[in-house]
Amino acid sequence: MTFATLGLIDPLLRSLEKLGYQTPTPVQAQAIPAVLAGRDLMAAAQTGTGKTAGFALPLLQLLAMEGPKVAANSVRALILVPTRELAEQVHEAVRQYAENLPLRTYAVYGGVSINPQMMKLRSGVDLLVATPGRLLDLFRQNALKFNQLQTLVLDEADRMLDLGFSEELANIYRALPKKRQTLLFSATFSDDIRLLAGQMLNDPLSVEVSPRNVAANTVKQWVVTVDKKRKPELFVHLMRKGKWKQVLVFAKTRNGVDALVEKLQGLGVNADGIHGDKPQATRQRALDRFKVGEVQILVATDVAARGLDIEDLPLVVNFDLPIVAEDYIHRIGRTGRAGSTGEAISLVCADEVNLLSAIEMLTRQTLKRQNEPEFEPEHRVPETDASGQVIKKPKKPKKPKTSGGGGKRNLGKWVDSGDSGPVEPSIKPVRKVPVFNTGPRKRKP
Ligand code: AMP
Repeated sequence: MTFATLGLIDPLLRSLEKLGYQTPTPVQAQAIPAVLAGRDLMAAAQTGTGKTAGFALPLLQLLAMEGPKVAANSVRALILVPTRELAEQVHEAVRQYAENLPLRTYAVYGGVSINPQMMKLRSGVDLLVATPGRLLDLFRQNALKFNQLQTLVLDEADRMLDLGFSEELANIYRALPKKRQTLLFSATFSDDIRLLAGQMLNDPLSVEVSPRNVAANTVKQWVVTVDKKRKPELFVHLMRKGKWKQVLVFAKTRNGVDALVEKLQGLGVNADGIHGDKPQATRQRALDRFKVGEVQILVATDVAARGLDIEDLPLVVNFDLPIVAEDYIHRIGRTGRAGSTGEAISLVCADEVNLLSAIEMLTRQTLKRQNEPEFEPEHRVPETDASGQVIKKPKKPKKPKTSGGGGKRNLGKWVDSGDSGPVEPSIKPVRKVPVFNTGPRKRKP
């Protein structure tokens, strides 16, 4: 199969040739003809599958071939994305695909001045990539009209809901024309996403290119257990041992990011961090420098977990496990992209056992443990498996009282190493980890 047989026009084929895309990926093979035929789409596609081209190519073709010239302050196709970085990335892909077409494309997002964006929108934009909050601001200030809108794309829809954008999305829908084509892309499909899809999509074609909620299988994944306080030391040890050259590291909190960056910089390592407290320009600069190899270790909160496409990223390290298990899939999706292989290492301490268990249950696999001899934890991380069970060994039992007739139970001898002696696992249900947060907004992870 070729892009030509999918019905794409010559100007797009030329762009693809320039980019070196030879064969459509599975999501592209399914999505492109359906979108060209005007169908609504509900696509479950994990990151790295080529989904951006899957919606952008047919969208650009429809814009170029059909419909009126764009009017002042109007937009004909809208791609909504959860983060500023993703807005830049998607727009960059769109710009490359549209190189040979007479279309105006643009990206708007928060964290930067709104005035230049308002100026740019004055003459109208055929295809606009936007984050929901800034889009609404522009709409409310009459910088944008939607009466020419023919297609809406929701990219990373699950992440938009996770980030608390559901109210903005509802307000945006209310402002859009009822008659339109809608494409919904989501890496994972929670019940909330299905509900959203039910409200927004009209007889959609379902496209699923990977099993639901399964982590990228091109990524070799393992866990190193360690005591919490020794994580930074273990990280440096592994970094030196593995001669890591380009690593994306995820930490739970902004403070965690800053502390690790500081430690690494103190050791002379070329490290930088990105999180929601940093200005957009600083975040983008750190990311750009990481992409071109000027920064060796980029430490990030989950703000960077979605959608970012870094070519041939060999390694992702979870310095902390994510609170929401689905974020694990997005984090490790930064590596092993577009057919290449990658590695994902998670440093796990005893406190995180329930998070580990939730990840294993979600990805339906037991992550291999590969411990470092010098870093065996004092606080054992109980065994876990893909069934969601945390197998805790009982604490040393108290000596049975010699008086009072309690001597009938034989408690045996418990050996802490787990290698010998009788072990009586007590199976505890894993704590339920929220997968979809409908609660208060938490826009800046
Ligand atoms: P995405 O999942 O849309 O973020 O795309 C992942 C990466 O795959 C991006 O770097 C794309 O440029 C690349 N890509 C997308 N489609 C193709 C294709 N058909 N052939 C080769 N590379 C592709």
